[in-house]
Amino acid sequence: PAGGEPAWLSSLNPPQREAVLTTDGPVLMLAGAGTGKTAALTARLANLLRQRLAYPSQILCVTFTNKAAREMRERVGHLIGPAVEGMPWLGTFHSIAAKMLRRHAELVGLTSSFTIIDTDDQLRLLKQLIQAEGIDDKRWPAKQLAGLIDRWKNRGFGPADLDAGENEAYANGRGTRLYQLYQDRLRTINACDFGDLLLHMLTIFRQHRDVLETWQDRFRYIMVDEYQDTNAVQYLWLRLLAQVRKNICVVGDDDQSIYSWRGAEVANILRFEKDFPGAKVIRLEQNYRSTPHILGAASGLIAENAQRLGKQLWTERDGGDKLRVIGVWDAPEEARRVGEEIERLEREGCPLDRVAILVRAQFQTREFEDRFIQIGLGYRIVGGFRFYERAEIRDALAYLRLVGQPSDDLAFERIFNTPKRGLGDKTLEKLFRFARANQVPLLRAAYDIADTDELPARARNTLLALVRDFLRWREQVATLSPAELARTILDESGYTGALQAEKTAEANGRLENLSELVRAMEEYETLGDFLEHVSLVMDNEAAANEDKVTIMTIHAAKGLEFDQVFLPGWEEGVFPSQRALDEGGLASLEEERRLAYVAITRARRRCTILHAANRRIYGQWTSAIPSRFIEELPGEHVEQETTLSGGASMWRANWSEASDPFADVARHHPNKAAARGPGWQRAAAQAFDPKPRKIAESTRSAASFASKPRSDLALGARVFHEKFGYGTVQRQEGNKLEINFDSAGEKRVLDSFVKPA
Ligand code: ATP
Ligand code: MG
Repeated sequence: PAGGEPAWLSSLNPPQREAVLTTDGPVLMLAGAGTGKTAALTARLANLLRQRLAYPSQILCVTFTNKAAREMRERVGHLIGPAVEGMPWLGTFHSIAAKMLRRHAELVGLTSSFTIIDTDDQLRLLKQLIQAEGIDDKRWPAKQLAGLIDRWKNRGFGPADLDAGENEAYANGRGTRLYQLYQDRLRTINACDFGDLLLHMLTIFRQHRDVLETWQDRFRYIMVDEYQDTNAVQYLWLRLLAQVRKNICVVGDDDQSIYSWRGAEVANILRFEKDFPGAKVIRLEQNYRSTPHILGAASGLIAENAQRLGKQLWTERDGGDKLRVIGVWDAPEEARRVGEEIERLEREGCPLDRVAILVRAQFQTREFEDRFIQIGLGYRIVGGFRFYERAEIRDALAYLRLVGQPSDDLAFERIFNTPKRGLGDKTLEKLFRFARANQVPLLRAAYDIADTDELPARARNTLLALVRDFLRWREQVATLSPAELARTILDESGYTGALQAEKTAEANGRLENLSELVRAMEEYETLGDFLEHVSLVMDNEAAANEDKVTIMTIHAAKGLEFDQVFLPGWEEGVFPSQRALDEGGLASLEEERRLAYVAITRARRRCTILHAANRRIYGQWTSAIPSRFIEELPGEHVEQETTLSGGASMWRANWSEASDPFADVARHHPNKAAARGPGWQRAAAQAFDPKPRKIAESTRSAASFASKPRSDLALGARVFHEKFGYGTVQRQEGNKLEINFDSAGEKRVLDSFVKPA
């Protein structure tokens, strides 16, 4: 190394160094996981600034997440000092494009103060447009259109660019028109959605040469991390910006392309050399992250993919443990086992923030959260909500709470129009007023008010149907298991149906989470026990600043590294996902395999894969087949282990089947068997508690509605009602009045809505 060279530069290996020092011309750094791509990109940025080849504001540097941008900014600051502070164009595609668009908003009919709308607003807007067009939004949900519009925008298509096929994809050929209406509407309200940020900039670049030239001139250097996951519009945008100076350096790994479902095109990295002839291609082969076994296992696995460039990785590190593959009996045991392992690591002095559990699907986190709370192990869910905090889970819990406790007004408010049943704020307002005046819960108010003319007939009938549903479910508390009850409620309330109608990947994830909720409930004897458990889990935010285990999806873990990585649920149907299996195509299976490669290569020291022999799906035990990816791991890097406890429980199950008269119960409801201790009696007592039924019946019986009549509103009294005006009381029945209004005629109203006149 040259004299006076900073340590961060001289510590790089030769190809990394080349990537850093090749400042001019196109550079493609194409290399496997953990080879120091991001490290080299960071050093390159530092070097450009150190050598004063550009001002910080003349470098465009794109990262995949905001967090990655923050880390890179910090790291560069650490390497060369505060020069980095003025790096306005270091960020994600979205954040950079938003900043640019503010400067040129008028060119696409917006002003610089435009708002960026979120998904909720987007859906509300689309729904209005769909209904205004006379299209049935049950048949053609707004979510579906939102998904399509995102896809079009990711591919760089404006409304005029849709071909017949795309146009047909929504409401029998009305896709283009709705897309156009949506864009017009956004312009009218001076707003754009996320997809617009890049698409608008692309449109501006294409239509205004002068603007494009200014930016082409400004950005002396362009750099992009995780290039394999760029989509078409990002690619087109970059290509335009880099066209003149051609100082563009992109880094990526075709084996880690895992976002095709969001429009990413791995082809972008594969055609870089064509787009930028003479590009210097730099391959990094030395892996600094993982042990030889981890690396060997990951490389062996990804070699099964046909569609890849292929590369060799090696490491100077030696030793280390083989990958462990652990077979367990079922999901609870999986969580128990991982919990034990982590506690052992903690005792050995491993900080918990170096430990991660990476799951294929969000629903998998639930079992771990429950277990860790039980044993008091701190955890953090990254890039998502904790299981019981997710919107769909909260909705379902609100239904259950309201069944268990009809006076839970917060729960009522949450679900009163979820799924959408056409009830609005006005109705809720009325209910509130009535409930306050009569000191009754909202659910009860909904019943009482439905018996009057206070609300339009439609709202009344809807409310009445809702209350009847709740009365029925409340009776079923005594006859159905908590899990069965939850399933019934989700179906009968229309909640599941609404999600199914959406036909989006997001809705599918939510449905999976709901199945997982039902699965969790199967372990409880009574609804009360389950709800109590949930409130304990939700309350577990206490010890905030202590070390925590990270639980996250593999998708969110891209680019990160941990000493210890646990990979649960490696079973066919979970990983590879059922979706990928159903689609059946090679492409989706290969993307799953790339995901498995990303997962394993997050590990620095040790990687543990788990698979359960049994999964419970809709109350049925299903024997699970270990993931094909396990078989594909080269044997010399793997040690198979059947856990002691796993063996024991399998043995237990076999034994119990042969000789235990309750074997069936034990096997299908393991916790029922466990609860046959003292807790069992309590559980049984609760299950047969006559209270729920009693309340349900009393709620229905007319007698129970006879609240005390108001003496100031007796027969013949003159009253005033906000909506119906003046009138005379004809009949009084509890809190209900029959009034002959002077202009509105005869109506039934509630006494809390009238004043003596
Ligand atoms: P991924 O594909 O997962 O994004 P990557 O190629 O970006 O991985 P980095 O995260 O940059 O890899 O680096 C992996 C690890 O190797 C980091 O801990 C980093 O500090 C270390 N590392 C990178 N280059 C070197 C080097 N030349 N000498 C020592 N350690 C290095
Ligand atoms: Mg990286």
